[in-house]
Amino acid sequence: MHDPILVIYTGGTIGSKPKDADDPDSPQIVVPWNEFRQSMPALDHLGFDVDEVSLTPPLDSCNVGPNEWRFMVEAIEAGYEKYAGFVILHGTDTMVYTASALSQMLRNLGKPVVLTGAQRSAMVDPVRNDATQNFMTACLIANPKAASIPVIPEVVIYFGGVILRGNRTVKQDTAGYTAYTTPNLPPLGEAGESITVNTDLIRPIPSGRFNVRKRLDTGVLPILMYPGIQDTHLVERQMDDPNVKAAVVMSYGSGNIPTKPEFLAAFNAAIERGVVVANVSQCDRGPVELGIYETSAALLEAGFVSGVDMTLEAAQTKLMALLGDADAQQMDVDERQEFVQRAFEIDAAGEMTTSTYLTDFGDRSAGDLDTTSGSTPVRQAIRGASVDGQFTNDKVTRALVRLRGVELTKFDSATFTVRIFLNLDPDATPDERAPGFAGRFRKSSADVTQLMVFDITRAFQATVRSGDRLAVTLVLDSKNAHLRWRRAELAVFSEAA
Ligand code: ASP
Repeated sequence: MHDPILVIYTGGTIGSKPKDADDPDSPQIVVPWNEFRQSMPALDHLGFDVDEVSLTPPLDSCNVGPNEWRFMVEAIEAGYEKYAGFVILHGTDTMVYTASALSQMLRNLGKPVVLTGAQRSAMVDPVRNDATQNFMTACLIANPKAASIPVIPEVVIYFGGVILRGNRTVKQDTAGYTAYTTPNLPPLGEAGESITVNTDLIRPIPSGRFNVRKRLDTGVLPILMYPGIQDTHLVERQMDDPNVKAAVVMSYGSGNIPTKPEFLAAFNAAIERGVVVANVSQCDRGPVELGIYETSAALLEAGFVSGVDMTLEAAQTKLMALLGDADAQQMDVDERQEFVQRAFEIDAAGEMTTSTYLTDFGDRSAGDLDTTSGSTPVRQAIRGASVDGQFTNDKVTRALVRLRGVELTKFDSATFTVRIFLNLDPDATPDERAPGFAGRFRKSSADVTQLMVFDITRAFQATVRSGDRLAVTLVLDSKNAHLRWRRAELAVFSEAA
């Protein structure tokens, strides 16, 4: 006999029927589990036991939030050893939020947690509904041995034939049977004639012990950018509320917001008070590119952090969970801001394609390279710091040295050149054949912003490992120039596991 599964019934259309039995168009009401169960006779033919717990009362998912997420997490925690997997029956409207939140709350998850629902209930239409198919297939995905499929140790949404990573999903259709998609990740599997799982994409079974996070902080404010918002005080007013501890800015394209200085100042002020401001795109597909190019100087300087290709729902719930961790550890505002900013940019549950690991070279990394009065070239070594991050070099997609607070006070030519060396011996000549030579970078004087970025990926991959000490030497090759910066940092971008 196969292990049983647990169904967590929360409501939604899948559990709804018309209020007035004689009028199919009357408003729908969510029914209790026992009544819903009768519309699912196929459950008796699965070949394994299906236990059930239910929200009382079951809800339309527009009323599901952190309290109900905790209820689901506690049910999974209590049954973790006993059950092969878990199915959560849920309204379609906020299913993605629930899936994203649970992916952050269930840590070291080694069993499938499958959310599903329906656009048309079997109680409304016993003939043409998607409820039975969605529910039965979800039960099979949650019981991999019984279904002879690989274990998907993740929070997934199964709906309309596709198995999707929950925290990558967006709802794309209010009524269609294929209501969900993951724009930045292929489906983890499909269910047609048979159920297939894309084993290259699913997360590995974790080695650590399963544990849960229950504390969430709801002080996370989404802010949609729209043309004209820069002429209002809406951002300032909302961010002024002391309950707001983080904001998710839904920016244009690859991470842009209006550049009006007074508008940016509202974000600046909030960040200075300890608010975390994250940047996700209004586009479904593709990443925000913050800190990769010098054009993003203003937002990076202001202290925005990048959601890369996270959905709004994933960013929102990740921030709620991270703020919850900070509360649990009684961090003060500055500690909380730094902790949340760093952790937000690192993938935790497959919610983003790229993790960013920052190594700050510290207060003593300010620099001053001046060729206006002496000889050329001049060099400056930035003292070594140990490279932060859980990455392996084959997964590094980009490594950047970033200078912040840059000023070019004097220079007469259109371009100037800087060479960069990693771990250069202080006595060695900064020669391009030196093992740590990371590149010769020609910069345009007219384009200098507060941020200067040097892509050192190739040399970094070849010579530096996570945890190593890294010192960076900059050599200014151009005559009659004066380049200064306030601080230097290393940003390593790594493919998420
Ligand atoms: N309003 C319903 C809900 O989300 C819609 C549905 O389930 O499809 O609960």
